[in-house]
Amino acid sequence: MDFSSGRARLRQARLAGDRRELYPHSLQFYLDPPTENVSLVEFESFAVDRLKLLKVVENLGVSYVRSSDSYKTKLGAELRKLKFPYKALAEDDYEARRKDHISHFILRLAYCQSEDLRRWFLQQEMDLLRYRFNELTESLRQKFLEHVNLPFEAISEDLKNELANELCTSTPGMTKVKEQMFYKVGLADAVDLFRARRVFIKDGFAYVPHKEIDAIVLNNYRTKLSKALALTARSLPSIQSDERLQPLLNHLSHSYVGPDYSVQKNTGKISLEQIDALSGKSFPLCMRQLHKALRDNHHLRHGGRMQYGLFLKGIGLTLEQALEFWKKEFIRGKVDADKFDKGYAYSIRHSYGKEGKRTDYTPYSCMKIIMSNPPSQGDYHGCPFRHSDPELLKQKLQSYKIPPSGITQILELVKGMHYQLACQKYFELMHDVDDIGFSLNHPNQYFTESQRLLSGGRELKKEPSNSGNSQQKNNSQESMNSNSAPTSSNTTADAELEGLEAYFTED
Ligand code: SF4
Repeated sequence: MDFSSGRARLRQARLAGDRRELYPHSLQFYLDPPTENVSLVEFESFAVDRLKLLKVVENLGVSYVRSSDSYKTKLGAELRKLKFPYKALAEDDYEARRKDHISHFILRLAYCQSEDLRRWFLQQEMDLLRYRFNELTESLRQKFLEHVNLPFEAISEDLKNELANELCTSTPGMTKVKEQMFYKVGLADAVDLFRARRVFIKDGFAYVPHKEIDAIVLNNYRTKLSKALALTARSLPSIQSDERLQPLLNHLSHSYVGPDYSVQKNTGKISLEQIDALSGKSFPLCMRQLHKALRDNHHLRHGGRMQYGLFLKGIGLTLEQALEFWKKEFIRGKVDADKFDKGYAYSIRHSYGKEGKRTDYTPYSCMKIIMSNPPSQGDYHGCPFRHSDPELLKQKLQSYKIPPSGITQILELVKGMHYQLACQKYFELMHDVDDIGFSLNHPNQYFTESQRLLSGGRELKKEPSNSGNSQQKNNSQESMNSNSAPTSSNTTADAELEGLEAYFTED
């Protein structure tokens, strides 16, 4: 029974009305930034969820045809799971619409910082909009077009019957005019279709079939979002001066939304003698490259030592094993035992949290490797899919006996800047499986999944798995409070790692 007073009920109704006005549609072009106060906890959790969503969009876009049922089902399920608007929802989905709005603008801030980031963000947002636009019912689509100032009118049945012959002959591939919706669009908005002779023109209007209207909407959205990203990039200096936001935004653009592999169940279970064999079977290409360079040159520069050393720690090397491993190799080169003990050994103990600030450093995620500290000449760190010349990458893959058709697929993914997906393809080819069954985000995840597969402990799942994401989310949420600078574990580790790197810039 409702005991609330008449005035309270009125206030509630007014609030609901305001809310509906704020987000009249489940879909938007994100033209106006949010103006309400958002707590840092919400700020981070919204951003992490959208990042997860965009990564799924990227993954599905490469694995499935975008108009296929599998693509739609999986993307719809992800939107529902993460509580974003996913369809023509009821009007009371205010929270989902609000989250969609705010999270878009946060990632816009994080992903406007470089050309690579902008391109990636734009592509995933476009794919997301395409899916959601096509899921709208006819009347909602019409409402949305009016809302974003693209008032294309669906023509009436009478007019369609009257123009049936012209529509059929002027629209390539059109056989059943009666079953199609056509929109009357001003020529300026349909120039491309008009030039390609794909639409019927009459009295200054193009009659665009439904399947082409999403291309017009997307073009419009792309132009608006590209401009907005460029404008946002210009306002970065003022955001960079905000000490609460800047680390968080940087963290997001290098972000990885899975476990950090800091808890090693395997610690001590790997012997040094196994590493050579493991590097060929279960190391991702980045670590295989570092291992080979270390064996060949008996040395790695500090970028390589950091990336590879933390990876080895993540797969289970104890501190004692790490000291022995690096020392044995280095003293075979130009470093004598004394120099190793005085310099390099300290940095290894430091990375295990036994020196300095005693931070237990976590292995680098793919995003961190791909987005920061690109290798220079003489370096072997980085991601080979991102940082290698395509010809050299091809030769390397050939030397690892990857079949030519597989190499072509990998190079295509690299060309499209889908580096982690290229790595997934490499995993599939190395393990002779058709579907990797998980979404690759971390070199240590590659290793763990490979070992599980090789030991027969895992049945390949068909659904992309986001296992472990909740752990990261909890960690990061716990570590934030609305009054302080972000202190999520990775952000802190990143900052302190810079300190560690500064200790040993010696090559
Ligand atoms: Fe390493 Fe990740 Fe690049 Fe694969 S995608 S090579 S795991 S950094």
